[in-house]
Amino acid sequence: MQSMVILGATGSIGTSTLNVIAQNSAQYSVYALVANTNVDKMVELCELHRPKVAHMVHAPAALALAQRIAHLDIEVTSGADELVSLVSSSQVDTVMAAIVGAAGMQPTLAAVKAGKRVLLANKEALVMSGRLFIDAVAEYGATLLPVDSEHNAIFQCLSIEAQQTLGKCDLAASGISKILLTGSGGPFLTAELSSLANVTPAQAIKHPNWSMGPKISVDSATMMNKGLEYIEARWLFNATDAQIQVVIHPQSVIHSMVQYCDGSVLAQLGNPDMRTPIAHCMAYPTRIRPGVEPLDFFKVGQLSFFEPDFQRFPCLALAMEASRRGQEATTVVNAANEIAVAAFLAGQIGFTDIVRVNEHCLNIVPQSPLDSIADILALDEQTRCYANEFITQVS
Ligand code: NDP
Repeated sequence: MQSMVILGATGSIGTSTLNVIAQNSAQYSVYALVANTNVDKMVELCELHRPKVAHMVHAPAALALAQRIAHLDIEVTSGADELVSLVSSSQVDTVMAAIVGAAGMQPTLAAVKAGKRVLLANKEALVMSGRLFIDAVAEYGATLLPVDSEHNAIFQCLSIEAQQTLGKCDLAASGISKILLTGSGGPFLTAELSSLANVTPAQAIKHPNWSMGPKISVDSATMMNKGLEYIEARWLFNATDAQIQVVIHPQSVIHSMVQYCDGSVLAQLGNPDMRTPIAHCMAYPTRIRPGVEPLDFFKVGQLSFFEPDFQRFPCLALAMEASRRGQEATTVVNAANEIAVAAFLAGQIGFTDIVRVNEHCLNIVPQSPLDSIADILALDEQTRCYANEFITQVS
């Protein structure tokens, strides 16, 4: 029986994880559910999954939750230190890291430092703290498993040896010439370029293949998500810039591929349903059933592939450039993008302003070497100020 904490329980990944757990309740139990402010959803989840602990980061939300679930035998907690103790508890085996954005970094790192089995959906944590994160996994003996469907697909196409040295593996020594990171291109793959400035939040979050939370949906529309994934892949697979190629694959059936030096290409395929990579991470190295329809090749019909168009997707180019520049630049782009996406969703800026905010911050925010988590958090905070200031000018 694996005892799990679900960070970001009320979100899209959290909900899918709880769905997989419910279908495999003989092997997995919910120790704790963690969210920020969504009390209604948390009440629903507590009634259904009966965790030992329900943690709301937002203190007033924790108070409201405690009143609403007083009839259940569930401890309600709140606060950053309490969250660190929660994920580090000896009663926890596995942590699903699915808080969205920079807010997920510290609890995810706490799980790593407690040597837990960490199922990583929160790519922003790795984008911000890459080297420190990967070193901590090795130092504290944590088991890191990638939930992001592309990284999970790549992981599945690696040798056991490379899987077991995630973050430190030697791709060339494993005979790998290239990682092919696929992406659908999102809802605006074929839209008129001139129409993008007038895209609404409702249009941007309507992904053609995947059902996801609002932030990652907008990131998919700008392809910043693929840029963040590119950075994530570089850290997870210890890959150079030249070892990763982004491939547009609109059907989202192939979730990524690994090209070997003998000409073989291994791919992982499946229906676009996050329960598959979640179940893979939960059960690795075995397999469990997540309730996902098997892939029907006759329904799929055709698979197509294109090179990314960086004019259409400047956020992708920017994130790749930041990755080449280093950790400071990726931390800046990540923070700027979070502020820009939130402003777009709030109707403050247009869709094509997102890249302007990101580019402005990358060029203007002073960057010095990041030696600690405190340095990373300070740069993240500083970037948010620059981004907010720029937004007040453009909106
Ligand atoms: P959602 O927006 O659906 O959910 C976000 C979750 O994070 C919610 O539970 C939310 O709680 C919680 N949260 C937000 N802010 C805070 C905070 N300050 N402190 C604690 N909890 C917080 O996001 P997704 O599930 O779509 O994405 C989660 C992560 O997984 C992201 O990093 C994303 O990039 C990654 N991911 C998602 C995929 C998907 O298919 N959705 C695929 C691959 C990766 P509350 O509801 O209370 O606000």
